[in-house]
Amino acid sequence: MTIVEYEAVIGLEIHAQLLTESKIFCGCSAAFGGEPNTHTCPICTGMPGSLPVLNRKAVEFAIKLALATDSHVAPVSLFARKNYFYPDLPKGYQISQYELPLSANGSVEIPLADGGKKRVGITRIHMEEDAGKLFHDETKPFSYVDFNRTGVPLLEIVSEPDLRTPQEAADYLRVLRAILQYLEICDGNMEEGSFRCDANVSIRPAGAQNLGTRAEVKNMNSFRHVERALTYEIERQKKVLEGGGAVVQETRLWDPVKGVTEAMRGKEEAHDYRYFPDPDLVPLTISPQWVEEIRKGLPELPLQRKGRFVKEYQIPEYDAGVITTSKTLADYYEECVRLFPDPKQVSNWIMGDLLRLLKEDDKEVDTCPLSPEQLAEMLGIMKDGTISGKIAKTIFEEMYKTGKGAKEIVEEQGLVQITDEAAVTQAVAEVLQNHPKEVEEYKNGKEKLFGFFVGQVMKATQGKANPQLVNEILKKKLS
Ligand code: ADP
Ligand code: MG
Ligand code: ZN
Repeated sequence: MTIVEYEAVIGLEIHAQLLTESKIFCGCSAAFGGEPNTHTCPICTGMPGSLPVLNRKAVEFAIKLALATDSHVAPVSLFARKNYFYPDLPKGYQISQYELPLSANGSVEIPLADGGKKRVGITRIHMEEDAGKLFHDETKPFSYVDFNRTGVPLLEIVSEPDLRTPQEAADYLRVLRAILQYLEICDGNMEEGSFRCDANVSIRPAGAQNLGTRAEVKNMNSFRHVERALTYEIERQKKVLEGGGAVVQETRLWDPVKGVTEAMRGKEEAHDYRYFPDPDLVPLTISPQWVEEIRKGLPELPLQRKGRFVKEYQIPEYDAGVITTSKTLADYYEECVRLFPDPKQVSNWIMGDLLRLLKEDDKEVDTCPLSPEQLAEMLGIMKDGTISGKIAKTIFEEMYKTGKGAKEIVEEQGLVQITDEAAVTQAVAEVLQNHPKEVEEYKNGKEKLFGFFVGQVMKATQGKANPQLVNEILKKKLS
């Protein structure tokens, strides 16, 4: 039997909601939420005779993203009608772009697990309007529809099938979200759906040139879900092929509770949508001058900020990369360093303990219960010797859980470091007395027992003894 090694091929379609004040073709508020059907007017509810007027700010935001992803900005692009029938789409068509999108041929750089980098191609970025939202109440024989979201501007960002693993897909998403956030054109909130993605995935024998048949997976509203759903889907496709079957081109839904993807519908083809240029909208022309003006006003982007962190704070490229993938995390970091100017120490705590706790809670730093002031206060009392590094770990978790300050916790729990020589000497003496056998062995040359003694003293003092002092006194007593 020959065993075929498969490789996965992944391409993502991202939808990013733009942070404009008003909707893309009318003056209604584009804000998230609001009482149902209060952000509506004849245009966004598709009343006959109403006419769309393009929002200039939305175009400006789209150009910003195009420039930040090295994409080509088309001097002329077209809006098209994408026809389909669904209760959340009042006009019976969505205004989108099809032939002649606003932008094409870009790329971004993503970090790889082995420390390297990879360029991921961006096929196209186009503008479109969002649909409404349906609510189903199982106890009622009908459903509700909220049109507040219809007409909110979206960018659709289509990648080349350049991604090879679920992790690369998640990293690509992180990079794009960071760029959108740095540009301040999308809040990147996956839970609220303002940043969402459909993942197209296929597998093929490793090294093959042709692409396999793809499935499209929808309904993943966190990075973790994207990775889990793709991992599941790749395995599923392998089993299908190994069982002698063929992958069907279809749309599948990720069920995060069951941890599986399930077939939703056959994949629609472009001709199913009967695209045609929207006769209500003139072609969009963008002058080179406008593009240049926007280019000049671009803010610092993630890669640039990463470079600056390496230079300015002298932290490793890896640290700088992790910290700058989120604008809020990078802001958090810079604020901590301003309050406690030891950049590497700060980055260690953020990359280690803080990110671990946030990940456990599936939280982002913008909802972090621990402020830069609190972290700086803790690092301060660790530096002046009030607490040991070990106790600091405990205090950190406690601050994170309770929101209390470091000094407050130290006082409440009596966690002040023992730096009193007499007290440490006493603890050391007791430990040695209680372990005569180990002392004997140590003296006979089993030197690695030294760590054991240190551990016992730390345990006896509930981690409060100053480790350096413990080392010194132990060495003296054992020699
Ligand atoms: P559609 O809009 O019908 O889904 P697109 O041509 O826009 O079709 O492609 C959508 C995404 O699917 C793109 O990101 C592309 O890279 C990806 N893709 C296309 N073919 C494959 C394939 N065989 N395997 C994995 N991804 C694919
Ligand atoms: Mg698609
Ligand atoms: Zn409106």
